Amino acid sequence: MPLSPEQQAEIDDLRARPQPTLRSTAPGMEGHLYTAYPVLDHGFVRVVDYMGDDAAICQAARVSYGKGTKSVSNDEGLIRYLMRHWHSTPFEMCEIKLHVKLPVFVARQWIRHRTANVNEYSARYSILDREFYIPAPEHVAAQSTVNNQGRGELLEGAEAARVLEILKADSARAYDNYEAMISQDGQQGLARELARMNLPANIYTQWYWKVDLHNLFHFLRLRADAHAQYEIRVYAEEICKLVADWVPFAYRAFEDYRMGGATLSATALDCIRRMVKGEEVTQETSGMSKGEWREFMQVVG
Ligand SMILES: Cc1cc2nc3c(=O)[nH]c(=O)nc-3n(C[C@H](O)[C@H](O)[C@H](O)COP(=O)(O)OP(=O)(O)OC[C@H]3O[C@@H](n4cnc5c(N)ncnc54)[C@H](O)[C@@H]3O)c2cc1C
Repeated sequence: MPLSPEQQAEIDDLRARPQPTLRSTAPGMEGHLYTAYPVLDHGFVRVVDYMGDDAAICQAARVSYGKGTKSVSNDEGLIRYLMRHWHSTPFEMCEIKLHVKLPVFVARQWIRHRTANVNEYSARYSILDREFYIPAPEHVAAQSTVNNQGRGELLEGAEAARVLEILKADSARAYDNYEAMISQDGQQGLARELARMNLPANIYTQWYWKVDLHNLFHFLRLRADAHAQYEIRVYAEEICKLVADWVPFAYRAFEDYRMGGATLSATALDCIRRMVKGEEVTQETSGMSKGEWREFMQVVG
């Protein structure tokens, strides 16, 4: 079960007591507040709180530009201008606080994003739940032969079944031993802070994660990208849907300039200029390495 009965009771209580506010709210986000959206087999993402909306981004930008913003009077145009010119601080005026339940190995990738505030479930204080991420068969794949940092073809038949069996058996055995070690049944029981060290990285943890919109976009740019590991990408994709409803103008600009856009080197730009003039540019005449050329062709091809 993604949410514990206590967590659900807390949410029900909050929902039963809506409060009037003078703060600006984003209608698209109000509909998402508190709802836990399932991710992977036991995980979820839910919005606990948020601050700001598209108008807050424009309001902050207009403080810095003053009358100069009259030339870009429409909010979406102004937000696109800010995104295009990397004027990022107005986006920091919006914040989001998420409650995320995720496997520990995903949390290790996620925590590398240092520009957020995190409060994690304490396995020193509390007993972890018996919940482990076991990939669905369509995600059990072999090591990629072209990308050292990724997976390739799916494992099939007996090999896939064997792998899944190992994952399930090891998780169950590790948790049985965890319970046995902390058990106080006629004995002292090992401290929880020590017993946890024997648990595998596919066990679930939970945290509150608060971040501003500028840094959230940076996270989404990297983790919703096709090159990100599937298990973190699905969380990023779920968050993308929330952000699209929260700040629709900013999200559209992000999709256009960041997710859908590309950064080109001066050499690559020169190649494009030569191609536009009708020159046939090849890898050999481009000034790029084979790897750079392959990636360049993926962008322009
Ligand atoms: C596909 C992929 C593969 C990866 N592979 C590896 C890997 O093999 N090994 C590995 O260790 N990591 C790996 N990472 C993690 C990666 O190196 C970054 O740590 C992670 O993406 C967080 O990025 P960030 O530092 O820009 O984000 P944040 O920590 O959110 O920082 C945002 C920005 O703030 C600034 N900033 C924050 N803190 C500091 C600081 N202390 N000093 C200076 N500037 C700061 C930087 O400009 C930074 O870009 C991988 C990431 C991805 C997406």
